[in-house]
Amino acid sequence: MISDTAPMIIIGAGHAGGRAALTLRAEGYTGPLILIGDEPHLPYERPPLSKGLLQGQVTLGDFSLCQAAQLTELGIQHLSGQRVVRLAPAQHRLHLADGRVLDYQRLLLATGGQVRRLAQVPAHFANVLYLRTHEDAERLREQLLPGARVVIVGGGFIGLEVAASARQAGCTVTLLEAGPRLAGRVVSPRLSAALLYLHREHGVEVHLDTGLQDVSGQQQVERVQLADGTWLPCDVLVVGIGIQPAVELAREAGLDVGQGIRVDECLRASAPDMFVAGDACEFRLHPAGDFQRQETWRNAEDQGRHAALNMLGADQPFRGVPYFWSDQYDWSLQSVGSPHAGTPSAQRDLPAGGFLQFYLDADQCLQGASGWANGNAIAKDIKLCERLISARVPLDHEALADPGVALKHLLRTAHA
Ligand code: NAP
Repeated sequence: MISDTAPMIIIGAGHAGGRAALTLRAEGYTGPLILIGDEPHLPYERPPLSKGLLQGQVTLGDFSLCQAAQLTELGIQHLSGQRVVRLAPAQHRLHLADGRVLDYQRLLLATGGQVRRLAQVPAHFANVLYLRTHEDAERLREQLLPGARVVIVGGGFIGLEVAASARQAGCTVTLLEAGPRLAGRVVSPRLSAALLYLHREHGVEVHLDTGLQDVSGQQQVERVQLADGTWLPCDVLVVGIGIQPAVELAREAGLDVGQGIRVDECLRASAPDMFVAGDACEFRLHPAGDFQRQETWRNAEDQGRHAALNMLGADQPFRGVPYFWSDQYDWSLQSVGSPHAGTPSAQRDLPAGGFLQFYLDADQCLQGASGWANGNAIAKDIKLCERLISARVPLDHEALADPGVALKHLLRTAHA
């Protein structure tokens, strides 16, 4: 039996958790509300960490979700620098590292993830850097000095965005990607090739199919050895080889856990009154679909908001459309829906450079699209693709490929 006066509690004060807390208040929940996070900061968005913050264009206050005064005004109790060490779902109770025990009415797990670490690199070396938190990004920014020889392990978005920021800071950059192409799990071969061309054009030495074999140095890494035996000098070693979702609390509490914490279509975990949102959430977008996780800004935003509504009893299935972007130098990659990493159904070359790729399903309806362009030129098209995905109308390959046919026109025809 749970008490009406027990608080709503959110574990994880990142983007998803912060958005959920703000949404609970915006939707009229006036009861006690506690937001618990192990970082010392107010909730913030992570995309600027590898771009604007590294380039010195923004500081934490610019991308925090809210101000401290706002939390106070809203009556959101923020327990920062605190870890939850145990959940007791049957009692609707959780245990904090400092010994406190809190009962909850409804709980949101927005626990995010931790960086995957490279076993062959001593973690205590001051010039070995991972990038997940504001502290990580600040430490890296201080080391991206002109002329510094930076070696990056991992050609995913962290590796690529850090490479671009480091080149802009005047560093020499070598990037090692274990797979045969850049960002190979999430983008098409043509996009991987475009990324490779762009980085090489900006002077990044990219090695594909190459891992880090070994490092040498006393107090810090001084040289790194590639898989082919070559040794390279290194002032800064950045590792961006993915994250591991934070599922331990859930697993120890006996919840259903796969790659992430598994939820039903309303983002409910397998224990009563418990919900999940963000990077750690393993969900199905459609009842017959596969379980998936999305480690994106959009997912944190949408699931944080959606989970909050369901904590208040909305009981609505989550049907968010996946979306991500990555800005590197003055180019932008955007992706919406579920493009797979394989061959697109149609492609459109853009008159000003760059391209769009479209992925149709068996009914010839758009299921995903990706784009690559200078500046923000594809933002509008990707938004239109999102509307075409929702519209679920059969589309013609030739019209999609023809830059003379406005996507807006296809959407209008769809609604006619
Ligand atoms: P990621 O996207 O999973 O990419 C990691 C890359 O490192 C993969 O290409 C992987 O290759 C490669 N790799 C793995 N082990 C390696 C090794 N030992 N040596 C060399 N390469 C290795 O992860 P991330 O770049 O670290 O980013 C972390 C999370 O933040 C991701 O979910 C990412 O999408 C997200 N993020 C998103 C954005 C954005 O949307 N703009 C920006 C930054 C971060 P394999 O795939 O072949 O294993």
